[in-house]
Amino acid sequence: MKAAVLETIDAPLVIGDVGLSALARGQVLVKILVSGICGSQLQEIAGNKGNAKFVPHLMGHEGCGIVEETGPEVTKVKKGDKVVLHWRKGDGIEADFPTYTYKGKNMGSGKVTTFSEYSVVSENRVTAVPEDISNDFCALLGCGLSTALATIENEAKMRPGENILIVGLGGLGACFIKAAMLAKAGTIVALDIHDKKGFAESLGATHFINSAKEDAKEALTRAGVKGFDVIIETSGNSKSIEATLPLLAGGGRFIMVGQPKPGESFEVRDANHLFGGEGKMLKATQGGQFSPSKDITRYVQMYRDGSLNIDNLITHRTSLDKVNDAITLMREGKANRIMIDIWQ
Ligand SMILES: [Zn+2]
Repeated sequence: MKAAVLETIDAPLVIGDVGLSALARGQVLVKILVSGICGSQLQEIAGNKGNAKFVPHLMGHEGCGIVEETGPEVTKVKKGDKVVLHWRKGDGIEADFPTYTYKGKNMGSGKVTTFSEYSVVSENRVTAVPEDISNDFCALLGCGLSTALATIENEAKMRPGENILIVGLGGLGACFIKAAMLAKAGTIVALDIHDKKGFAESLGATHFINSAKEDAKEALTRAGVKGFDVIIETSGNSKSIEATLPLLAGGGRFIMVGQPKPGESFEVRDANHLFGGEGKMLKATQGGQFSPSKDITRYVQMYRDGSLNIDNLITHRTSLDKVNDAITLMREGKANRIMIDIWQ
């Protein structure tokens, strides 16, 4: 089957022929229909996820597919089910890492991957959804959208009318605008180093700051507030964290979603401000504690009743063959969520 393989750190993915092995206990073979590309994959290509020792390996962790075959003891899904492929663990067996063959050798892989025609996935990384749910929405439930919704709910515990600053308007940041609107945020300010004013506003942000041209503090003036109740940091950039942490209101929650590079540090300037109000919170989150088995059904219901939509989130589509061009567009800040149509 065709797959995008990370052979070398910091090099383009190689579109190659990868062989599948027989399914082991708890493994599910999924025909991938659509995959999202997430900031995490850019980090993996750069070797920032501790993954350099595992190359060559397969890529991708949010997707929508159809169950093709189930391995021994799999009971959660059956052949023909439409499923979300998610990196967070849900119910079901935690299967062993799958083995593929590539260029005449065995190749290990993660428990969920999506940049390929088929994928061997651990039972606890797939969740069935109704057949009529759009493939794009299904795929975005694997990471981007779910991470944003769960982070706002579980980590930021956002209340109606609170204001929010979203730092970094990549694929994830854009989902956070949707999540903030759903939580009935008052003012929603988006900040990015690329000019994305029109895009931010099309999603529902009330204000936009271009931090390459303006001081991050401008966000306060523009929003007409003394501080932000919630700050979501998606860039993982230490300079960005240092510049935006002081913008937190008393009792505010600063949630790090983007991970700084291993070994990187940041400074908390004038740390005394952290005691403002009832005290502020600085928290690093793993996917907002998104729980696939509990949350996916709920999100599907919200999508059905119209309270949750993915309008304007997807700016580009690509094929597996052109995935490297799509990755370049993301690096340059020229695209938001890009979906890969695997069989195109
Ligand atoms: Zn992701």
